[in-house]
Amino acid sequence: MSDPYTDVQLIDKKGLRLDGRKLDELRPIKIEVGVLKRADGSCYLEWGENKVIVGVYGPREVHPRHMQNPMRGIVQARYNMVSFSVSERKRPGPDRRSTEISKLLPEALEHVVLTDRFPRTTVDVYIEVVQASAGTRCAGLTAASVALADAGIPMRDLIASVASGKIGGKLVLDLGQAEDTYGQADVPFAMVGRTGEVVLLQMDGHLTIEEFETLLEMNRKAALEVYEIQKAALKDRYSSFTEEGEAEPDAPEEEKKDEKKEKKSSPPPKADKEPKEPKEPKESKEPKEPKEPKEPKEPKEPKEPKESKEPKEVKEPKAKDEKAPVPEEMVEEATPEKDDKGPAPAGGDE
Ligand code: ADP
Repeated sequence: MSDPYTDVQLIDKKGLRLDGRKLDELRPIKIEVGVLKRADGSCYLEWGENKVIVGVYGPREVHPRHMQNPMRGIVQARYNMVSFSVSERKRPGPDRRSTEISKLLPEALEHVVLTDRFPRTTVDVYIEVVQASAGTRCAGLTAASVALADAGIPMRDLIASVASGKIGGKLVLDLGQAEDTYGQADVPFAMVGRTGEVVLLQMDGHLTIEEFETLLEMNRKAALEVYEIQKAALKDRYSSFTEEGEAEPDAPEEEKKDEKKEKKSSPPPKADKEPKEPKEPKESKEPKEPKEPKEPKEPKEPKEPKESKEPKEVKEPKAKDEKAPVPEEMVEEATPEKDDKGPAPAGGDE
């Protein structure tokens, strides 16, 4: 009556896992922003052996129209594992699992997207898992959040996601493929980076209440690490733009620039961090007046050239927000003020 699962040695005598990680160690995570030329926002993420690409489109008209909400926009997602993403060829197309994940992820994202800013429209998030190795829903959600920011979608923060579980009787962070397969429990989790609000929580397997609580804590701590990686990736992306919003020499495709410039024209420096609610859905395509060179460098009270005509108060965070859609800043300053004025995701309406 041996337990087939515990017979698989997932933790060695030194307390290390199959890939050499400690029990509470994440797999390496790499995030690249703005990888797709034709998407409004995009992200490529590697998480251990997982490889995920996310493309974001919108806000754009909702089809079918009866799905339009006059009070707010909607976020839709499609999670898909491509045929060659797993060791045995996966049958293409949606299945029960991908349908479930495609429902969960936008529900989580709607907690941070300020949907009341783009009524009647939809933001579509396409999550393609090109290589899967456990934890793909967390990887997909983490990447989707970054891609939304890259698209300049008004958000109050990023969502960071990670899973933990139980293997060989021990509680561990971030299950790998074998651990997921032979482990005893899996707890995918996602939270809003700044507030810690939980927006996704699932459990597969058996745990005691104490074990579950311990895993929650492990997830929370690890999600903060993921959150930092997300922010760093966004900063990285935007730091390659000059103050005028032009990309550095190494990224030539002009058209791409033109499109993206507007959205990302916002300053690399932290100066104006206000831009959380980037652009208005539709106008977003219009060139946003790139900032004056100096602005970016100014700390926070830059009543600079153009704004100079406006009274100083215009500099209130909100005013700027509209112009500078920079993700980094969404992350930095978003939460508090926004929430007041723009009803939070869950119950939004003006
Ligand atoms: P998650 O990827 O979020 O952990 P699951 O726990 O359902 O979701 O899946 C764990 C892992 O099992 C996936 O990451 C993938 O590597 C593998 N897997 C899932 N579905 C399939 C499938 N249809 N064929 C082969 N492997 C799969």
